Amino acid sequence: MEESHAILTINLYSSRCNGCGLGADPEETHHLTVLQYAPDPVAGCGAKFIGMTSDYLGERESCEEMRPDLPWVGEGASCT
Ligand SMILES: [Zn+2]
Repeated sequence: MEESHAILTINLYSSRCNGCGLGADPEETHHLTVLQYAPDPVAGCGAKFIGMTSDYLGERESCEEMRPDLPWVGEGASCT
């Protein structure tokens, strides 16, 4: 099976996987964990993060500090 790819959206208080739209841990290379306000962790869709974006303008620097390994794909690129 082909590995699926997704863009990681990193926001100040919440991050998410654009592949499945669920919360993601911005430290992970793949979407393994769904971060959410729930007592039990849920498995993510497993897509590999191949780029990152943010819903907010001006977040590029902090995103690149957090994930220097991921290419920046531009602000608000959530819908790709
Ligand atoms: Zn996902």
